[in-house]
Amino acid sequence: MTLIVATQNAGKVREFKRILDPLGIIVLSLADIELNVDVEETGSTFAENAKIKAQTIMQLCALPAIADDSGLCVDALGGAPGVYSARYAGEGASDDQRINKLLSELKNVPDEKRTAHFVSSICCSFPSGDEITAEGTCEGKIGYEKRGENGFGYDPVFITEHGSFSEITAEQKDEISHRGKALREFYEKLKEFKENRGNDIVNE
Ligand code: IMP
Repeated sequence: MTLIVATQNAGKVREFKRILDPLGIIVLSLADIELNVDVEETGSTFAENAKIKAQTIMQLCALPAIADDSGLCVDALGGAPGVYSARYAGEGASDDQRINKLLSELKNVPDEKRTAHFVSSICCSFPSGDEITAEGTCEGKIGYEKRGENGFGYDPVFITEHGSFSEITAEQKDEISHRGKALREFYEKLKEFKENRGNDIVNE
């Protein structure tokens, strides 16, 4: 089956393709179908925003669309930046600017209080009106400086027991990441959904 991934974030698109392609799902990005739309995230939770993005793109394309709303929740900042992770340093800011803001907010925070987690909330919206949702989290700590070259977003400062998300390989990240977990849960639900409802509900 083919899914349109409702994001303009190239880092996310790479991860969707990496995780879903081996499961037999063809992932097309908005760039692949030449649809230049940025859906406004007006919800107050990850789940609400994922649903808004998936529904909007599904309606525009009349094809099943999948969206991830994700973010970094830092305990010492009361869960911020959370749903505002992409906008943490203002609209149009770079990953480096967001990371620098985060590191400066945590300047005087000791090691044991630098705990954080990523959340990925997934929603897949079908033209039939059906919907599949899934969620994954990944626990870690915020480092003191950028480490590693891989990945995107806050990866260089998100420290897992194997190193930062930017130091580990793509395969290692997918194994433990919020998005990897959410997409594997989504895939299990999709299989169940097809068994119960028949393949007519999704395009093969
Ligand atoms: P949104 O889901 O489009 O609102 O954006 C989520 C933001 O959270 C991204 O722009 C990144 O800054 C951050 N983010 C989400 N997932 C990851 C990840 O796997 N690594 C690093 N940063 C991430």
